[in-house]
Amino acid sequence: MPMPAYPLYCYTKNCKHEAEYKIAARWSDGLQSELKTYGLVCADCLADWFWTARDKHKRCRLAPGETLEPPGVYHLERGLRDQKLQRLTDVEERLLSHAGPADAPSGV
Ligand SMILES: [Zn+2]
Repeated sequence: MPMPAYPLYCYTKNCKHEAEYKIAARWSDGLQSELKTYGLVCADCLADWFWTARDKHKRCRLAPGETLEPPGVYHLERGLRDQKLQRLTDVEERLLSHAGPADAPSGV
């Protein structure tokens, strides 16, 4: 199945922007691995979703043998399989360098 041709929009309710990033974490049970998607978001909403995903990740229960990496930020590109998505570690570091979800200044 090819990816849909229509644009992917930000998951935030009432946000009209196209999604630019995928928040996802690599999950594995030792045999298979896949990207578990937390959200598709635009640049404005990225920080909120990133921290929400980190929070969800902390509370996630895993079965024995399962591993789930902390959620990361991937550059969303239509038509690319999850395995090929580029992980934006510089963006993650920028987000992590802020104190946390509360009181984080918006913008730069
Ligand atoms: Zn948005």
